Amino acid sequence: MSLWNPWHGCNKISAGCENCYVYRGDARYERDASKVTKTKNFDLPIKKNKKGQYKIIGPEVVYTCFTSDFFLDKADEWRISAWEYMRERKDLDFFFITKRIDRFYVNLPKDWGEGYDNVTICCTVENQKMADYRLPIYLSLPIKHKQIICEPLLEHIDFRDYLSGRNINNILCGGESGNEARICDYEWVLNIRRQAILNGVSFYFKQTGAKFIKDGKLYNIPRKYQGFQAAKANISYYFE
Ligand code: SF4
Repeated sequence: MSLWNPWHGCNKISAGCENCYVYRGDARYERDASKVTKTKNFDLPIKKNKKGQYKIIGPEVVYTCFTSDFFLDKADEWRISAWEYMRERKDLDFFFITKRIDRFYVNLPKDWGEGYDNVTICCTVENQKMADYRLPIYLSLPIKHKQIICEPLLEHIDFRDYLSGRNINNILCGGESGNEARICDYEWVLNIRRQAILNGVSFYFKQTGAKFIKDGKLYNIPRKYQGFQAAKANISYYFE
């Protein structure tokens, strides 16, 4: 697994961004996360060593743009090159998450067609309002590999017509971390799991978040145990 952050910094656009981990991380170093900059690893996928070999050796999953949003308007020009690198490195699988799926077509490569085989684009929906706005757009788009991310999950979400026969590979759920974390209720998680399985979509419970309600009781869960507690619940479900 490799990490490629071609640009850093972002702008908040919806409820899920309120306690954004990029802002929290930058605040520790007195940096302003709203200032978006290209990173020194901007061209990491095509960087080579002295022997002329790619630094990232394929096959490999490359988690992309995890300190920004790939479709951020401030990165519109940079994204043209980022797409080129993905096209060049067909031996790598690029995986990224966006809250700006409505900007998908801005500077999309001309040869995108039905999507690049090596690119997974995940759409984040943190509440019903964002599900009802983003998912109809997301589902209409030519993307080969799709996943829905509910993290931080802020309320119960009714997926209605968004799952059945829609070529969604997976739904991931997770609570919110950090000192200001909002509550995540296990009932919401279980309900989304039910909807996923009913529609033949795999489900992954990634982490509880810092404030987790189960059976009406609030648990404050330290960061290091949030993934562990979710795994312990043993509710993730995978279709072949
Ligand atoms: S879109 Fe993502 S990276 Fe950007 S502010 Fe929101 S949570 Fe942070």
